[in-house]
Amino acid sequence: AKDQGVRRPSLYTEQMHQHLLRRNLLEEEVRHALNRDQFCFALQPQIEILTGRLVGFEALLRWTHPEKGVIAPDEFIPLLENSENLLNIGYWGLRRVFELLVQLEEQGLTEVKLAVNLSAEQLLDPRLCSYLKELLGEYGPLANRLELELTERTLVKDIELCLQVMNDLRSLGFTFSIDDFGTGYSSLSYLKKIPVDVIKIDRSFVIGMLENAPDYQIVASTVAMVHNLGMQMVAEGVETRAQLDCLRELECEIGQGYHISRPILEKDLPSVLQRRLLQ
Ligand code: C2E
Ligand code: CA
Ligand code: CA
Ligand code: CA
Repeated sequence: AKDQGVRRPSLYTEQMHQHLLRRNLLEEEVRHALNRDQFCFALQPQIEILTGRLVGFEALLRWTHPEKGVIAPDEFIPLLENSENLLNIGYWGLRRVFELLVQLEEQGLTEVKLAVNLSAEQLLDPRLCSYLKELLGEYGPLANRLELELTERTLVKDIELCLQVMNDLRSLGFTFSIDDFGTGYSSLSYLKKIPVDVIKIDRSFVIGMLENAPDYQIVASTVAMVHNLGMQMVAEGVETRAQLDCLRELECEIGQGYHISRPILEKDLPSVLQRRLLQ
């Protein structure tokens, strides 16, 4: 045949090629995003379910891409996996949350906590403790207002080492929560060892709790267990009024989710807070 040996790329490989090109491009761009000041946080409110009072925010990383706009972490964190960059972004983020705590204080929110996600690499980085100590020196005694979120996946990597680091950070005043609780394929025995204050049950259970009996049972039993262990329970992924009401009945203390508020970009926070506080 005429076109023998001139194999035209099939649509499939052409698409894969485009995908790889895009991914490399994005990877290249995100590597420079820190220098170009393109990261920020979106803060998602957390409320005390019984009273509706604002008690804190979770700081969620965002990349403001010059053309693509705001990009969520699941789209770029995987591109940075195993790179020094992710650690650098983590350190930038910790400084930023201290700045945000100071800003919130200036706006009269002197009690609210900020929860920040720590990757395994970050928790186990030998520089973490001294860096946080440095930030406390610069920004003041704000440790007890910061909640460090770890996942079960992080904890099971090296439980003894995690324990050591967590105890060091606790002696500085920081508190911890377990994020995505119930999804980590881990046994519960680590709960006996590690000093955590808060359990955040994974949003998949909360989202399903009114439709699926097992999800409901898991949420209900987790609340009971968390309270029996002397910890606090946060439900994330609260998307409806009915879920919030159900969580209140189960006596879950804290709620976070789209029904309460979407994450709010740092730059929009002052105006949103003003509107809320005037309500
Ligand atoms: P996560 O820690 O489980 O954060 C909660 C995610 O749920 C956020 O997604 C949030 O926008 C989303 N969410 C909040 N309310 C609802 C709801 O009612 N329904 C649903 N379906 N989703 C809701 P986001 O911001 O895209 O973050 C995704 C993940 O990226 C986070 O999951 C966390 O694992 C990671 N991440 C975010 N910021 C950081 C960071 O600063 N450092 C690190 N290492 N990871 C981060
Ligand atoms: Ca989290
Ligand atoms: Ca989570
Ligand atoms: Ca997650």
